[in-house]
Amino acid sequence: MKITIVYDNQADEGLKSGWGFSCLIEAKEKILFDTGDSGENLIYNLRQLNIQPESIAAVVISHNHWDHTGGLKEFLKLNNNAKVLHPKSFSKPTEISPGVYSTGTLGGLIKEQSLVVNTEQGNLVITGCAHPGLPKIIDKAKQLGEIYAVLGGFHGFSKLEKLQGIKLIAPCHCTKYIQQIREKYPRQFKQVKAGTVVEI
Ligand SMILES: [Zn+2]
Ligand SMILES: [Zn+2]
Repeated sequence: MKITIVYDNQADEGLKSGWGFSCLIEAKEKILFDTGDSGENLIYNLRQLNIQPESIAAVVISHNHWDHTGGLKEFLKLNNNAKVLHPKSFSKPTEISPGVYSTGTLGGLIKEQSLVVNTEQGNLVITGCAHPGLPKIIDKAKQLGEIYAVLGGFHGFSKLEKLQGIKLIAPCHCTKYIQQIREKYPRQFKQVKAGTVVEI
């Protein structure tokens, strides 16, 4: 199972950075999770990373904030066959593609879904901004099995002990306490940005 960070606040050389998040999940099908804040930059990064927009089966939008939906329109111009899965599509955990699940919509004012992806090591949880709170997302994701890794925007998440036992921790995008997470979990911490590939 392979994840490529396509869009993030930080980027490898040769890629565009911007306030936003997007990653490509290569499970049985290719799924794009979120689309960053700019269609132009999203498409640029996809091209640079040799990802064909037409090869993507579904786009999952974590929540309706511009830094996650900004590239959707441009993307759909290149691939209007992709399924688009908004948070409102799901009220409970649902398999959306073989081995890939939505947590279902969580949160009060800001509705958000996260993904849970089966890997050989255990489940990978992918978050957009984690507005419902990472602990809530983790608890929900645990219903689908043991969590091996968590990746994405953790927002203001500060109850760091909640990450105990997770083997791979890859906060990015809007994560406020990235430095504290790195200090508490130096062996589990992985720095990721646009261009990073994680294989599990
Ligand atoms: Zn947000
Ligand atoms: Zn965000």
